[in-house]
Amino acid sequence: MTSILEKIRNIPIAVPSLGDEEWQAMREPLLSGWLTQGPKVLQFEEEFAKLHDVKHALAVTSCTTGLHLALKALGVGPGDEVIIPAFTWVATANVVLYCGATPIFCDVDEETFNIKVSDIPSKITERTKVIIPVHLFGLCADIHAIRSIVPSHIKILEDAACAAGASYKGLSAGSLGDMAVFSFHPRKSITTGEGGMVTTQDKELNRLSEIMRNHGAEVPEEVRHSSAKPYLLPDFKMLGYNYRMTDLQAAVGLVQLQKLHSFIRERQTWAEYYTEKLQGIRWLKPQATPDYATQHAWQAYVCYVDPDLAPMPRNDIMDILQKKGIATRPGTHAVHMLSFYKDKYRIKMDDFPGAKACDHNTMAIPLHNKMTQEDFDYVIEALKAI
Ligand SMILES: *Cc1c(COP(=O)(O)O)cnc(C)c1O
Repeated sequence: MTSILEKIRNIPIAVPSLGDEEWQAMREPLLSGWLTQGPKVLQFEEEFAKLHDVKHALAVTSCTTGLHLALKALGVGPGDEVIIPAFTWVATANVVLYCGATPIFCDVDEETFNIKVSDIPSKITERTKVIIPVHLFGLCADIHAIRSIVPSHIKILEDAACAAGASYKGLSAGSLGDMAVFSFHPRKSITTGEGGMVTTQDKELNRLSEIMRNHGAEVPEEVRHSSAKPYLLPDFKMLGYNYRMTDLQAAVGLVQLQKLHSFIRERQTWAEYYTEKLQGIRWLKPQATPDYATQHAWQAYVCYVDPDLAPMPRNDIMDILQKKGIATRPGTHAVHMLSFYKDKYRIKMDDFPGAKACDHNTMAIPLHNKMTQEDFDYVIEALKAI
């Protein structure tokens, strides 16, 4: 019997699923001349809000700029503290510094890779203003447990970068905290090239975010352009930014949004296939999916390589897979171990043992909507051969 491993394949870690429909969708804004935030952005926001069961959605240039806006809308400034998990993409910490506030790291759970709820109380001080739970790789953080231990004046901002279409106890990601922000970077489940979406149920938080997204202008551009009064310029009462999404991106986003649930369904099927086929490998543990995760968005399939059981260090395993044409990546990084943060706050690697372990031992294996049955079997056999 010949092994599937005999012929080398080339399997990238993630590939965006875009096609002719997205290409066609860009024609209309391109030819109409309305290129930046306009009717397509408005429609994208409305449909995104409907799909995530929230009252308000605001399209922005990225999840990072959206998180910045959300923190500003929540009133975060110098002297305030914001609690974040120590194992997340660096942007979750950077946005806190953009506001002049201090990021307070919290450890993560080695099974779910999400913020460790039991570690939160010791991080709360009278300066704590916001906590940012991250729905890492599309698995919602245990929001109800977090809400029940965090005093009610502390706001919850979901970093839902990876969690479009995810749900928690049947409730949509993006509707779980006071505010949430999603990403449409090509590495996420749906993409607009760059892009993000800020969601909230709160009218005032949405209004503040909307004003700051557009230079601090009190009158939205759409209203100004359609006004009969040519002398009407908006007033500016606060410091704003330019975080507007283009209508070209929103046109692509609208098409991608229609495919979101089928993308997730397909990824879920393959994630379950991986989990079933890989369960014989004692040193490889997939991200735990607790019962409260009624829908994991499977932005990535990330495993924990148990250093006590694995036949060799994780990096050697990644090297072997690379030679077989299989791309892998560490899940993400421990922010407190990155030079900028380590030096700035004099944090020791061992201060957050869960985050350190996840940094050293997590491994994302290929999962995207362009993979075939043979690709999945090839990855599985390559892992078994180690
Ligand atoms: C990707 C990601 C971000 C940043 O998203 P951008 O849209 O690239 O700014 C923030 N947080 C997490 C957890 C992410 O995975």
